[in-house]
Amino acid sequence: MKKYIDIHTHRKENRENVFSLQNINPEDFKNEGAKARKHKVESCFSVGIHPWYIDNSVEDKLNILKQIASNPAILAIGETGLDKLCPVDFNLQKEIFNAQIFNAKEVKKPLIIHCVKAYNEIQQLLKNAQPNASVIFHGFRGKPQLAEELIKAGFYLSFGKLFNEESLKITPLDRIFLETDDKELKIEEIYSLVAEVKGVLVDELIEKVGENFERCFRNIFAEISRV
Ligand SMILES: [Zn+2]
Repeated sequence: MKKYIDIHTHRKENRENVFSLQNINPEDFKNEGAKARKHKVESCFSVGIHPWYIDNSVEDKLNILKQIASNPAILAIGETGLDKLCPVDFNLQKEIFNAQIFNAKEVKKPLIIHCVKAYNEIQQLLKNAQPNASVIFHGFRGKPQLAEELIKAGFYLSFGKLFNEESLKITPLDRIFLETDDKELKIEEIYSLVAEVKGVLVDELIEKVGENFERCFRNIFAEISRV
């Protein structure tokens, strides 16, 4: 059956026609991870330290992440990134983000990036670290010029409820993901919205996003089938 893919959500989704990548904090993975093992690929997570969650226990969180990152129920590291509106010291944000880039590299998993007003810094850190799996900028609302830059660099853009229409128009279908994030709406609504702007049928969009997913996560699914 063709599935709608929600690449970034903070909610648990249990509908048959939707595959959702639920985002959780490292310290919350323990219980969720045990459940996920039973369900195999049906319960998958992205796990990371969001800049807003950097606190006194961040070293512990990083250690937990290191321990669990290779778990097959974790498909991606994130959301992680940099946020200039966040009161946490920017150098500390960089340090924690960088540690997670290398963590993702170690387990060869994609990164889901949270970026607020720090595209140059994020691109620089990624350039230095040279990730060995896909990089997905979630909740992309930037202008076309930025979209173009990120696409050229080989990254994927994930669009949610709010986006710049011109940016979406110039993003090739083979670089697109869709997401609900923390919004109370169904992923189907985002598919309809995006299909309209792109001038394609929802079915075609489902197919393209499915191919993108396959391309980005193939290695990890191969791993899961061996478990
Ligand atoms: Zn989010």
